[in-house]
Amino acid sequence: MILMMNVRKVIRVRQFSTRKVGADRADGVGPRRPTGAGRARRAGMWGAALLLLLGVLCGVTPSASAIAEPDQSAPTTVSLTFDDGFASQLNAQQMLAEHHMNGTFYIPSGFIGLEGRLTLPQIQAIQADGNEIGGHTVNHRHLPLLDPAEQARQICDDRVALSQDGLRVTSFAYPFAGLDASAKQVVQNCGYNSARAEEGLSAGGDCPVCPSGESMPPADPYSLRTATPVISSTTLSSIQQQIADAQANGGGWVPIVFHEVCDGCSDMAISLADFAALLDWLDSRAGDGIAVATVDQVIGGAVQNPIAGPPDQRPDGQLVNPSLEALTPFSYPEGQSECWEQSGFGVNTAAWARVPSAHSGSWAEQVSMESRTSGDQKLITRQDSGSCSPAVKPGRSYTLSAWYTSTAPTRMVAFYRKPGGAWVYWTGSPQADPSADWTQLTWQTPAIPADATRLSFGLQLADVGTLTIDDYAMTPDPSP
Ligand SMILES: [Zn+2]
Repeated sequence: MILMMNVRKVIRVRQFSTRKVGADRADGVGPRRPTGAGRARRAGMWGAALLLLLGVLCGVTPSASAIAEPDQSAPTTVSLTFDDGFASQLNAQQMLAEHHMNGTFYIPSGFIGLEGRLTLPQIQAIQADGNEIGGHTVNHRHLPLLDPAEQARQICDDRVALSQDGLRVTSFAYPFAGLDASAKQVVQNCGYNSARAEEGLSAGGDCPVCPSGESMPPADPYSLRTATPVISSTTLSSIQQQIADAQANGGGWVPIVFHEVCDGCSDMAISLADFAALLDWLDSRAGDGIAVATVDQVIGGAVQNPIAGPPDQRPDGQLVNPSLEALTPFSYPEGQSECWEQSGFGVNTAAWARVPSAHSGSWAEQVSMESRTSGDQKLITRQDSGSCSPAVKPGRSYTLSAWYTSTAPTRMVAFYRKPGGAWVYWTGSPQADPSADWTQLTWQTPAIPADATRLSFGLQLADVGTLTIDDYAMTPDPSP
């Protein structure tokens, strides 16, 4: 258990170090892979490291420095793909235009216009340049955590929203590369022609058992393979090596995953110089059978009709799993309560645990913050499109409560969902005192804003200390 806690702490520190401080967000975007897939990936990386070691011991090393000679008889297509609608992708748009190239931009519709993200006019201009806009769920959710109805809302409603904004949407990418059989089926039902995962290809020898290129046509268009996403430590030569290796091995398709495109704005960024150099290099290889195309250009097929996901039918204000007894399957880190998410921002070191010292039932959730420079940790209703987050009526107020024990002050914080799917911070209760005994914090919210459709709320810890939480409740006030 101690080892487990340490591992979790290390992961959280890494997560926090990549977040921008000062914006109260819970969008889950970043290199964090809260998934079984993430564990498998790490296991895969260890396996790859072992194979590399064995290769060295046997006198076999993967090609490292010299980039393979072009094989003009083996056409190779490169797709430059950009995830999550970061505003820094405007840099990519400009450089692609200068090189007469087009990329694929996978956009979570609920992020459009949020701080640090592309606005709708910017996205429409990216498409007008000849680039492709793809879907990436409404709220960038890890799909294996969700029930099929919520998967359908996240995947289909995103495509509907983007289509209604005048965008031509045929390609999808799984957030966090998280997919299961249900998600794959839903993607097809929502009218997508392809879906991109992130696994299975080797870049510059980082996965000796993997091919460098996806086959043409791809073996499974709803689980397109890529190499590890490009981050700030990725070298330009490893990207070039992957493309050259793919061509040297008979050609094929090399979809590359980027997030931010900027100098030092994130550890998920490629620098402007490296991105420009990559485009120059691709230009120089155009005569050698290396082409750049969007995912849609590679996959082909007609634009299918957008189909909305099923509406959520729960009554206004109804919570799911308020006593935190049910576990979310496949959660990472393990031990998260169904429909509640452990959320945090800023720079702090904290660990979450599911503990048996409950107020009622068998389980409560506990967060311990060991050090804090900024930000918080909180257990809030999962910010989704309906399976977990309760519907609310504009103008009505709600009484929210939770039981807690704590060695530091706590308070209730609340977020709301806008009609397009964006989750935004709303407000919070006055601070409540620490309490060694179970105490109920009860707070009546202000009137729900006119543009709110759903609510997400929960207790917050923003100090060094330990907070244990159980038995949430939500009651609509009688009027209006
Ligand atoms: Zn993403």
